[in-house]
Amino acid sequence: MKIILLGPPGSGKGTISKALNRHDGSVQISTGDILRSAIAEGTDLGKKIEAAMSSGNLVTDDLVISIMEERLLRDDCKEGYLLDGFPRTTVQADALKVILEKTGSKLDCVLELVIPRATIVERLSTRRTCVQCSEIYNIKFKPAKVDGTCDLCGGNIVQREDETQAVIENRLEVYKTKTAPLVDYYRKEGSLLSVETSDFEPVLAALKAHI
Ligand code: ADP
Ligand code: ZN
Repeated sequence: MKIILLGPPGSGKGTISKALNRHDGSVQISTGDILRSAIAEGTDLGKKIEAAMSSGNLVTDDLVISIMEERLLRDDCKEGYLLDGFPRTTVQADALKVILEKTGSKLDCVLELVIPRATIVERLSTRRTCVQCSEIYNIKFKPAKVDGTCDLCGGNIVQREDETQAVIENRLEVYKTKTAPLVDYYRKEGSLLSVETSDFEPVLAALKAHI
């Protein structure tokens, strides 16, 4: 299955795609995780990415498209994938269309997670992430068993640099102007499925009914 997860920051794309990955083994590809590892490598490219990400702005289309093109043409993507965080602009969506044509495949579903703004802001400010395996925690709703240590890999759990109040506001604004137009883009293509939950079981049921 080839699925895109669409939704504002904090709507649960990462959590849902990781859960779907555990459920059926489809490759989960998070652009945010890929970009964060590029930053961790400390290359010049990483520095450029860091400047955009830490202020809550998007990394340039050219850069993201070239990274994703390389990723999506690898063998492990032949059977399917869950895209968390790509595409995020109509230019990226057009590029994905070309990649799909090249590989003779098509999308099965664009899953939009619709979540109230207040929930998002609360979630993002209480969210924590494992630096090693990028598992997502929440100090209120999903704390780690041992404070600060990942249940899965033992890595350190931290607050992301882009999860302060001012940067969260900017990320939501960027979503509204740059990414939200993709909802109509995919609705017109007939592949959109919108769900008003980010709990795994109902999302899975909706997906099964749709595909
Ligand atoms: P969220 O969806 O919660 O904002 P992500 O980890 O998906 O979190 O993304 C974090 C940041 O990474 C974004 O604010 C942006 O700077 C960058 N980023 C991720 N995906 C893309 C993309 N497709 N295009 C441009 N920038 C991206
Ligand atoms: Zn971990």
